[in-house]
Amino acid sequence: MPAFTLQPAEREEALSLLRDLIRIDTSNPPGQEAPAIALLEGHCREAGLETQVVGAHPERPNLVARFAADPEKRTGRPLVLSCHVDCVPADPTTWIHPPWSAHDDGECIWGRGTIDMKGFAAMAFAVIAKLKREQWPLTRDLLLVACSDEEAGTRLGSQWLVDERPDLLGSPEYVINEVGGFTVHREGRRFYPVQVAEKGVAWLRLEVGGKQGHSSVPSRENAVSRLARAIDAIDRARLPWHASDEARRFLGGFARPRGSFAEKVASLLCHPLIGPCLLPLLVRDPSRRNSVEAILRNTATPTCLINGTSINVIPGRAGVDIDGRLAPGQTTTDLVRELETVIRPVLKRDYSISVLHESPPVSFPTDTPLYREIEETLVAADPGSHVVPAIIPGFTDSRNWARLGATCYGFYPLQLPPELDFAALFHGDNERIPIAGFHWGIEVLGGMLQRFLGK
Ligand SMILES: [Zn+2]
Repeated sequence: MPAFTLQPAEREEALSLLRDLIRIDTSNPPGQEAPAIALLEGHCREAGLETQVVGAHPERPNLVARFAADPEKRTGRPLVLSCHVDCVPADPTTWIHPPWSAHDDGECIWGRGTIDMKGFAAMAFAVIAKLKREQWPLTRDLLLVACSDEEAGTRLGSQWLVDERPDLLGSPEYVINEVGGFTVHREGRRFYPVQVAEKGVAWLRLEVGGKQGHSSVPSRENAVSRLARAIDAIDRARLPWHASDEARRFLGGFARPRGSFAEKVASLLCHPLIGPCLLPLLVRDPSRRNSVEAILRNTATPTCLINGTSINVIPGRAGVDIDGRLAPGQTTTDLVRELETVIRPVLKRDYSISVLHESPPVSFPTDTPLYREIEETLVAADPGSHVVPAIIPGFTDSRNWARLGATCYGFYPLQLPPELDFAALFHGDNERIPIAGFHWGIEVLGGMLQRFLGK
């Protein structure tokens, strides 16, 4: 079987689609993904794929494009390449090159969405289009699904597709999605995390009561002050450790190449009493420490305040929305119970916690033919590197695809140089994608699919 090698024209086509996607501002909110979906749909139709554009809102549509297997050769359920075309907003004043310019400095394409995740949209298109043009014999349908509204919670995107039009996806067996397959450099070694689990979501609202009155006379019963004390308590609280199997495999995977002592230390890090004391000694960098902590416990982050109506009135009620995330095996009730132990000593009475939105943690098995193919592909593409099954503290569209019974992996292959910190680029300023690493990713993804779909 010939390797999946891009011709110069194919390299340029993929890059030019990426640049065009970046130049369409799909900041969510408000989203307005329609032009980006239309652009992708046009490319897919031109490549000979069957396409459908559907959604709850004309300005927030979703694309389902299909390369159908010959019915006589079809032996498996579909495989979906999943992406979203919306991005988080960007503040141009803090960027070196404007976030919607798709500036090319010869090494990287700059722009909001290059990493998260228009790069994968262009990559997935390049792969499916090449397989279609070359009429690769498939044993299952290959789909490219591009969604709106992932960044604000998936409601009009993958959630809508799963609830309203699951027929379009036809019960996929596998989904390949974002957050995995990129190079992580640690102490001279190269790792490739492949996402196999994500934490759950519990978006909560804490409301506290107080005594309304004239604000010329201060009062300890001010609802705003009471709320502030509760928020401070949440901020200082360290919720209990919940080291799941997913977290153990993730931390163990990074420790294994460094020998059995490092593996022992990683397993101690998962211990509910030793772990919280050991972590600050092991991980000095605060942002890395926060990332490790976030996979070992439930978290609760206050985000939006809901307060008062007038500067000269002490309000009778005040509230805050809290972005709660659940470790594998945990429920919203568990997190609310943990929060109660933090809030009750401070507020004592007259407060309530309500649930705005929830979705459970998801995790997927690694003993599958697709995971093995991904693992073998990455090690062959970057000899000496290590593949690690990963859990992420955030969510992706996979939490909805899981409801279709699909096994979902985060595998958006990108070869990154040591100086480029993936975590800092994700939703960060100066997001950019290395051109060589992007082309490498297309060939890695294409080669992997060529082998897997031919079997
Ligand atoms: Zn994303």
